[in-house]
Parts: sequence; structure tokens; C-alpha cells
Amino acid sequence: MNVERKVFHLGDIVQMKKPHPCGGNEWAVIRMGMDIRIKCQTCGRSVLLPRSQFEKDMKKVVRHAEGEN
Ligand SMILES: [Zn+2]
Repeated sequence: MNVERKVFHLGDIVQMKKPHPCGGNEWAVIRMGMDIRIKCQTCGRSVLLPRSQFEKDMKKVVRHAEGEN
């Protein structure tokens, strides 16, 4: 049974299941709401995803934002 809950916060660095076309696979969470905006840490582009899709596509949190631990 896989009921692992994905916990993430503004400023976290996350890894997605699919890497960005630029080759980068680390993203910063820069906006939270009904939609999540993430910014590629390699090329600096940002992408807006519906929260449900973000949670599905997010693989793991690489680094928690400072102060969140
Ligand atoms: Zn990129």
C-alpha cells in the first residue's frame, strides 16, 4: 500500500518524475495555491501546474526550505 503523503512548502527544491527538456531535474516551489508554480533550477524557466498534477508528477522533495525542518 502506498499512501505516502507528499509534503512540500514554498521554497522547497523538488524533483519531478520527468526532467525538464533542458536536462535539469531540480525545481524550486515558488508559488503555492490552487496551482503550483515551480522554477527550473538549471535554466530558470518556470512552469505552472494544477496542484493535483504537481502532486502526481512530483517524485520527492530534494531539500526543504530553510526553517521548515
Ligand atoms: Zn530547465
